Parts: sequence; C-alpha cells; structure tokens
Amino acid sequence: MSDFMNVAEIFGENVFNDTVMQERLPKKVYKDLKKTIEDGKELDLVTADVIAHEMKEWAIEKGATHYTHWFQPLTGATAEKHDSFISAPMPSGKVLMSFSGKELIKGEPDASSFPSGGLRATFEARGYTAWDCTSPAFVRQDAGGATLCIPTAFCSYKGEALDQKTPLLRSMEAINKETLRLIRLFGNTTAKKVLPSVGAEQEYFLVDREAYLKRKDLVFTGRTLFGAMPPKGQELDDHYFGSIRERIASYMKDVNEELWKLGVTAKTQHNEAAPAQHELAPIYAQCNVAVDHNQLVMEILKKVASRHGLHCLLHEKPFAGVNGSGKHNNWSLTTDDGKNLLDPGNTPHDNIQFLFILICILRAVDNYAGLLRESAADPGNDHRLGAAEAPPAIISVFLGEQLEDVLEQLVATGEATRSIETGKLETGVRTLPDLAKDATDRNRTSPFAFTNNKFEFRMVGSRDSVAAPNIVLNTIVADVFSEACDILEQADDFEMAVHDLIKEYAIQHQRIVFNGNGYSEEWVEEAKRRGLPNIKSMVESIDEMVSDKAVKVFEKFGVFTKAELESRAEIKYEAYAKALNIEARSMIDIASKHIIPAVIRYTKELAETVNAVREAGADYEVQADILHKVSRLLKEAKTALEKLEIVTYQAVDKQEGKEQAFWFYEEVSPAMEALRKPVDELEMIVAKDMWPMPSYGDLIFEV
Ligand code: ADP
Ligand code: MG
Repeated sequence: MSDFMNVAEIFGENVFNDTVMQERLPKKVYKDLKKTIEDGKELDLVTADVIAHEMKEWAIEKGATHYTHWFQPLTGATAEKHDSFISAPMPSGKVLMSFSGKELIKGEPDASSFPSGGLRATFEARGYTAWDCTSPAFVRQDAGGATLCIPTAFCSYKGEALDQKTPLLRSMEAINKETLRLIRLFGNTTAKKVLPSVGAEQEYFLVDREAYLKRKDLVFTGRTLFGAMPPKGQELDDHYFGSIRERIASYMKDVNEELWKLGVTAKTQHNEAAPAQHELAPIYAQCNVAVDHNQLVMEILKKVASRHGLHCLLHEKPFAGVNGSGKHNNWSLTTDDGKNLLDPGNTPHDNIQFLFILICILRAVDNYAGLLRESAADPGNDHRLGAAEAPPAIISVFLGEQLEDVLEQLVATGEATRSIETGKLETGVRTLPDLAKDATDRNRTSPFAFTNNKFEFRMVGSRDSVAAPNIVLNTIVADVFSEACDILEQADDFEMAVHDLIKEYAIQHQRIVFNGNGYSEEWVEEAKRRGLPNIKSMVESIDEMVSDKAVKVFEKFGVFTKAELESRAEIKYEAYAKALNIEARSMIDIASKHIIPAVIRYTKELAETVNAVREAGADYEVQADILHKVSRLLKEAKTALEKLEIVTYQAVDKQEGKEQAFWFYEEVSPAMEALRKPVDELEMIVAKDMWPMPSYGDLIFEV
C-alpha cells in the first residue's frame, strides 16, 4: 500500500503560513505584514499588492484557479463567492492570471440575501468582506478544483457587523486590553498581548449514506422526526471509547489528512457515548483561528463522509432517546510570551493572580449567565440542554473539590489558609494557599467546568459556530476585569484591595458554583432557590441578547451596537421559526405520504388475514387484536396530523419574528410530539418490510 502518510510533511502544506510568507515575501513586505498581524497596523496598498501577487503565485502552484473571500454570515454556515484569477483577454487573445492587493483586502460580494435582521434594506444592500490577516489563507482542493480561501469579516456599508467574525475580533480586542491592564497591576511588565485560546471538541454522528437518503426527515431537517428506540441503545456503554471500526477508521484517516493539510491540528478522535457517535478535537489555537478551524472541521467531516458512502450528522439531537452532540468550548487566556493565565501556577505570586482571575470569571458568568446560555441556543440544542444528558440549561460553574474549598474559606472568613490534599500553607501572600496543579476533578454534568488550566463551556451545539459563545465570554470577562481594574488602580494598598475584592466577589457569586450532579431534579430546585436562571428553550433565551445589561456591556466594549444586537435577536427568532416550519412540514409530508399509507396497507393485509383465518376455521384472535391496535393508533396519528397541519398553517398569520417563533415553540412543537408518539408505537408493530424507512437500529448499528 502506498498509504504512508508523512504527517510532518503534509501538515499545513496548503496554508499560506508564516514559513511560506517568510520564504516568498520580500523582507520588508514580510515585516510590514507581521506588524499588521501582530499590532493591527494598517497595510498600505503597495505592500498588499506584493502580498497578493505572491499569494496568487503560491496558490496557482497548488492548482488554484479561483480565489474566494471566505466568511461566516449569520446563517451558521460559511459562505464564499468564487472569482477566477483571469484578467480580461489581451489583444493576443491570451489571459493573464492576476490578483491585486485591493482584491485581497476587500471584497464586495452581492450578498444581499444573507440574514441581516433589518440592518440592510435591499436598496442599500452593499456588504463588504475584509481580510482577517490573523487567520491564514489556505488553498482548498476538492472535486471542484482548487480555490484560494481568504478568511474575511463581513460588514455592511456602514460598518455594521453582518457576520460572526467581526464581533469576535472586537471582543478579542476588549479582552486583550482589559487583561493587560489587570496583569500590569499584578506586576507583569513583559506581556504585550493577551489572547483567548480556544479548543473546540466536535461531536458528530456517522450513518450510512444509502440509509440516510431513505430518511427524508434526516435529509430535510438533519434530525429524525420519527423513530422508535432500538432494543439496544447506549446502555452498555460498549461504544464509548471502543475500538474504532475499520470503515470509520479509514474515514477518520482521510479527515485528518485533509485537516492537517489545511493546518488544522486534528489531535484526538474517539467513539462517543452513543452508537455511531464520534468526536474530534484539535489542539487549541488563538480564538479566531480556532473558530475558523472549527468551521473547516465541520466542512471536512461532511465532505469526506460522502466520499466514504457515509453521511455526517452534525445536528444536536439526530436521534431521540440517544445521546445528543455538542461542542465543548475550551477557553483560557494566553499571553504573547506563552503564559496561560488560568494555570494555577506554582508560585504564590502566580497563585494570587490566578485566584483573582478565577473569581472574576465566576463573577462574569454569574452576572451574565443568561447571555452565556443564549450564546448556545439553537433549535437543535433545545432537545439536548436539560434533557437528562449533556449539560442542563442552568448555568453553573464546576470548580472541583479543592478550589471550591478555597472559595468556601474565603466566603466564611475572608481568608483561605489551607488547601485540601496539598497540605501546604505557605504562600507568601497572607491569606492564600498554594494550589496543587491538578486542582480539579471531572464533572461531566457541569455546563461550565474548570479543568486543570482552562474553562470548558459544554453547552454549545454541535452544529453551531463557536464564535457566539467566545464573543460573550471575551466580553463579559473583559467587563469584570475592567471593573476590578477601576477599583485596584485607585487602591492605596494593592494587596489589601485584591484581598477585599476576592472576598466580596466570592461571597456574591458563590451561588454560581455547583459541583454536584447537574442532571438531577434536586439541582433544578436548588438552582431556583439560589435564584439562578433556568432558561429552558431557545426562544425564551433570545431576549437576553437585547436586555439593558447586554446592550450596556456590548456597547461599552464596542463589540455590538444596540442595532446590531436587535438585528441578531431578530435573525434568531426567524431562524427558529424557519427551522420548526421545515420540521413540521416534513413531518406532515412524511406522515401523509409514507407512514399513513404504509399503515393502511398493513391493516388491509391484516384484515384479509383475519378473514382468511376465520374462514379456515382457526383462531384469529391475535390477528384481530393487532388489527384493532393498529387501527386505533392509526386514528390517533391521523388526528394528531390534522392538528399539526392546522397549527402549522396558522403560523403564517403570526407576526414574523418573536411572535411567530413563540407560536412554533408553544403550539407547533407539542403538536409534532403528539404526532410522533402514535407513529413510533406503530413502528414497533407494523411488519418491518412494510415500514417506509430505515429504523434507528438500521441507522446507528449498521455503519
Ligand atoms: P479534556 O480531556 O480535559 O477535555 P483535552 O486535553 O483533551 O482535555 O483537551 C480538550 C480540548 O481542550 C482540546 O481541544 C485541547 O486542545 C483544549 N485545551 C487544552 N488546554 C487548553 C487551554 N489552555 N486553553 C484552551 N483550550 C485548551
Ligand atoms: Mg473535554
């Protein structure tokens, strides 16, 4: 086999990375570009022209014929419009391949159909894409040839953000500024920049493509709208971390290869809790790069699947009753000299700074729990959050035994003088203990868990961009840092002021810490007692984005204007209504055209059998029993179908946006459940060869 893969050699081979830039760009141009990347210095057009030219030459060597500004509009997917490199023919009839600095830096796709939530009227529909040079350009090779992809931000004519990247970059600036302010106070004079580091673990399902195509619900909506549980589910836990079957392993190999070529650090892969469920995790990267890479991961997972006769399901809940898929957003803060500020550290000096940052993050999460919850809201996640799996819908923080103990001491006495296990008291700072490196255990039920040296936000949906949660995290933490710096910068006795603030915040926000079982009913009660919000659905969370508090904090740091937030809320309501409308209509279609006719055929066969058996003089009680049961369920299904049709069509009369979204949530969604119930019961009775689509068993055990 010529299957040998030299990973070191192929890694990043299709990326216009630092090595390529150093090799190909004139020294001065390279230096200027580095300045732009590192300090945000504006790039002049002459320099941009040189970069564009070299980038084009490099891309053409990789087979590229086109370039695209690759951006992330508010549809959840990525978007691109391809232009070829050819210029107008010369008198000789030949063409040249050209790509200018202007074309590199700025694009103007006619992208007026992307959701803008009212920010753009069609008459002023200009949208601009602008190069994010901090996320490297890459060449994507596939059946459509090779394309130079340039990561860009997407804004309106007036500069309003129409995408995920623009506010993300703004939030990174905010956290950079406020964190630098904070660590300066703690004596750090060397760091020039602080960036959030993000590692997004991606869960997904793989099903056979043939079977998938026979499930119109999966095709239209990404999830099964009907489906009885197979006799065997995930109760044996025999799939989780199990050995990876050859078909899947060969798929993963190709996925890795594609990702590595694009410079995505695919690192960990394993089987997940549910049958046919898997996970892929990269090595963490700077926030905006991690967001771009996660988009690439999702794209490649899908693309490679179809090459292997598979289909990759990224929906949060493709199968009811089976573990759903999420995305764990690991987040920390890293200085440009490589220090992770969430590392508990070994020295007392690091220790107090760490504890302070930790407590500030608790405050941020408690102050803005609703906003964080909203950032993970999507129609698919409604089936996951709070459904006795994955994390609950209530935001809480898991700190682990040792840190929680420290927090309790701080709350009780304002001082923490010991730390569990280490037994070491000496800190050099009068009130704080040293912490063991591995200060945390694991708690899979917590939505926001401290694990070793990072926070892991586990609510994010598997299909969603990780931009939104990171925008929120960066901004709310920047807010608390800023507020704390305002106080500390005025303090006469810095150490005392730190001590007082730690105590104050610890007392105020201890309520957000929960180390117990987040799936339990008791926690729901306890959280209520503590006054923590429990926002159960997407539609109920959307207004968090436009609350006074949210507008204030986003405007303070220039991340979103009020108008931008309002437009995003509008887009989310519409997205919810659209998703449910498609689901409801798919259900109506499948039930009317496939399921009910199949059941009718089955009743006909049964009725004929009953007659034949009776005529033969034998006992026909069993056949008749089944016939009665099937007929009863058929009637139930028909009634539920009619109800669903009515409420779905009534949605048209509702005002678009919030009102319509709530209609779908309150009326249509329960009507869908009501139809599903008798149909799933019927699936358990009707002869398998007559059931019009593959079962759960066929889908998740036969890959
Ligand atoms: P775990 O098994 O605890 O979830 P892993 O080491 O497997 O931890 O990491 C899970 C994800 O978290 C990976 O994508 C990893 O790169 C990322 N990660 C690890 N350390 C950090 C960090 N300091 N900041 C952000 N992400 C991190
Ligand atoms: Mg993890």
